[in-house]
Amino acid sequence: MLGRHPERFSVKALTAYGSRDLLLEQAKECGAQYVCLVGEHEGPDTGDVAYGTGPECLIEAATHPEVSVVINAIVGAAGLRATIAALRAGKRVALANKESLVMAGDLVTRAARDGGGEIVPVDSEHSAVLQCLSGRSVDEVRRLILTASGGPFREWSRDRLHDATVEEALRHPTWDMGPKITVDSATLANKALEVIEAHYLFKLGYGRIDVVVHPQSIVHGFVEFTDGSVLAQVGVPSMELPILYALTHPERLDDDGTPRFDPVTAGTLTFEPVRRDDFPAFALGVSAGTAGGTAPAVYNASNEVAVQAFLDGRIPFRAISEIMQGVLESHDVQPATDVEAVLAADAWARQRGELLCSSR
Ligand code: MG
Repeated sequence: MLGRHPERFSVKALTAYGSRDLLLEQAKECGAQYVCLVGEHEGPDTGDVAYGTGPECLIEAATHPEVSVVINAIVGAAGLRATIAALRAGKRVALANKESLVMAGDLVTRAARDGGGEIVPVDSEHSAVLQCLSGRSVDEVRRLILTASGGPFREWSRDRLHDATVEEALRHPTWDMGPKITVDSATLANKALEVIEAHYLFKLGYGRIDVVVHPQSIVHGFVEFTDGSVLAQVGVPSMELPILYALTHPERLDDDGTPRFDPVTAGTLTFEPVRRDDFPAFALGVSAGTAGGTAPAVYNASNEVAVQAFLDGRIPFRAISEIMQGVLESHDVQPATDVEAVLAADAWARQRGELLCSSR
């Protein structure tokens, strides 16, 4: 996609945890001058490409003087420090790593304010809201409605979904994504994370952020304004447009490559309520968001641990939300005063979550 607009975009740095050969190949292809491999200790001789290793190289890439936009698509809590560093350095952060905002929403928004950085969501629902808002003040907004596909278990009975297998959970009906977020879509934890993300991005109280299940994933989000008017953003389920828009916001780029929308092909669009009682991870997340402080970081960490245990075949599907609930109930919520406090809560929740997983 970026390659379609060489006059507009050039890639300066690329980062990954592993897959060194693939990363170097990609760096060569797009002309990146700096590559960062978080999971390695020493770099190979790469000729004219500068090479960094270990978690610190993420910060180097995110604050690189020649970089103006940082796309943070790291999975999970590992993305937090890079988000904050980039914002403090005055960069635009195209944020796919929603966990940054979930764990430390106040700290991340403060970093943006202090450093003159800007957070633009890549998450499709939040991109939709941003596009519908088109610069209007939140004072003119009555509520946001984020859509949820409902995941692969939308129509499953509670009993059946208790013992859903990994293979079943990874069969997402509309979006093609990585395993962690696909399981989060199946439990609806992803939608709770997105409610928290929306709270910090758009500075709206939790009572003004609703979620509706929309199995076709064509409408990505709605904004209801105070006069009763409701705007929606629609498009085929593809991340190309949200990524492109995060780079060009508030402008729009003439681009022929993004998938086209046709209302006739899209056909019937349906909406239904979230089955909160059958997908407890959703309500748990919204409660953690409302509690604030370290609670969202604990929710996020316990989810990461429980989802990994499920993917490893160590716990059944129903245990994901049970473990999250167990961890949250034993957590003493503290103010999220700095990154250290957030990471301490994160580490505590991982340990507690692992303990609960292994005792099952
Ligand atoms: Mg999303």
